[in-house]
Amino acid sequence: MIRATVWNENVHEQTNEIVAQIYPDGIHACIAEALNQAVGVTATTATLHEPEHGLTAARLAETDVLLWWGHCAHGDVDDAVVERVAEAVWGGMGLILLHSSHFSKIFKRLMGTPCTVTWREAGERERLWVTARHHPITAGLPDHFELEHEEMYGEPFGVPEPLETVFISWFQGGEVFRSGLTYKRGAGNVFYFRPGHETYPTFHDANVQQVLINATRWASNAAARITNVTEAPNTPVDRALEPLAERGAKLHRAGDDGFR
Ligand code: ZN
Repeated sequence: MIRATVWNENVHEQTNEIVAQIYPDGIHACIAEALNQAVGVTATTATLHEPEHGLTAARLAETDVLLWWGHCAHGDVDDAVVERVAEAVWGGMGLILLHSSHFSKIFKRLMGTPCTVTWREAGERERLWVTARHHPITAGLPDHFELEHEEMYGEPFGVPEPLETVFISWFQGGEVFRSGLTYKRGAGNVFYFRPGHETYPTFHDANVQQVLINATRWASNAAARITNVTEAPNTPVDRALEPLAERGAKLHRAGDDGFR
């Protein structure tokens, strides 16, 4: 069973009537409900206002895939939690970033680039084109599908070149955008998926839900989590695999931790 945790800042739902009408129990609950319809997936939720944002070490240890929706409260996410999530990804946890999470701390941390987009909130039709029909994330989808109302994100998207581009979006105003991008960070599979503006019912859309189910399956990693990803051991001469005599000048003493 793939254990998914759907994380949402859950702020617009509390402060905006339109968002609250579309997602009365929050975007996280809508996504979790969709994932729980999928065979082999069990989804639970976590939100910003829970202690440690609901993302304790124990919670991450029992999360195979973390889905993330954030927007107006990126800055309220604790840096220590961001680092904890990054280490879980490097150790093998899957991570799926949704829509405005392009500017989340965790995505910028893992990408190392500004993650900028151009944008416009005008309820445009978005047409997503599948650019990788062979890919597990596009399984069961038509060659293209439409979302009648979406926010526009346009290129250039300030991210590193992805491993794979599985969707490209066209918008009524003429812009295009790489809407589905995969990355590997350490042992972790990372997927960015563009749609999901809060004032439109995007996460109720059957094709979008299929993408999220597919992506959750794709991102999950059956191997045990690697737990020592941030260690940088100083391996002493007397523990070298072959007999070794020290030579040359030295700065470090035997057993030093080294600088960070
Ligand atoms: Zn948006």
